[in-house]
Amino acid sequence: MMKKKIIVANWKMNYDLHETTSFLRNFLKYINEKKIFHNKEVIIAPSFPFLHISNQISQGTSLKIAAQNIYFKEKGSYTGEISAYMLKSIGINIVIIGHSERRNIFFEDENSLLKKLKIALKHKIKVIFCIGETYEDRNKNNQYSIIEKQLNNTIFNCSTDEIKLIHIAYEPIWAIGTGSTATINQIKKMHKFIRNIFNKKYGNFISNKISILYGGSINHLNAKDIIYSDNVDGGLIGKSSLKIEQFLKIVQS
Ligand code: PEP
Repeated sequence: MMKKKIIVANWKMNYDLHETTSFLRNFLKYINEKKIFHNKEVIIAPSFPFLHISNQISQGTSLKIAAQNIYFKEKGSYTGEISAYMLKSIGINIVIIGHSERRNIFFEDENSLLKKLKIALKHKIKVIFCIGETYEDRNKNNQYSIIEKQLNNTIFNCSTDEIKLIHIAYEPIWAIGTGSTATINQIKKMHKFIRNIFNKKYGNFISNKISILYGGSINHLNAKDIIYSDNVDGGLIGKSSLKIEQFLKIVQS
């Protein structure tokens, strides 16, 4: 059976209550549910305060709602943080971990990312785990060793059963929000490399099954070529997921 393409919208710190709810209602109104969802999984990640209502709006549809972050403790005195247990209590079963903005702006290191990964998996929350190299890494041709290191320090500490709950998002940092995507050739080569190291570590079954998404300046014009490239199982989309016409085109492409 063909793997479903996975399209993830990361809304970051955008949209208030009204903007969030009207986007979701319009999206569900304009989308041809049967046509789109039989071969695609669409996931939208709004801000924390609107996760609950977003989940209510998407009830009974195939649209899924994800959180953009999680804390690695179960509960307690961690002012401002959100636990796995809280997410589960409002029906959120998917979370993005390791986004480059979390790593760079909020100084999340691989040690804390691994803890976040483990707590999410413990609560059976699916993880979209982001990895990616900087512009300098690529200039020095270090992109493959950097990606391998990022996986070794985090994902590769997971069991075969845990891996089944993980999607990888390869997001070269130099392509995020910059308008310049990686070339199809760069994307294909990196995705093949990632799949091969999963193969070495977990074998054929897991490496074929794991979904590897690309993220970095996907828009309605380049989405189809990227998402249907070899070894690409979908896309993680920032800026272009905020404009409903563009996002509808991406999802329909
Ligand atoms: C992102 O932030 O994960 C992302 C891919 O953003 P953009 O699509 O705007 O490059």
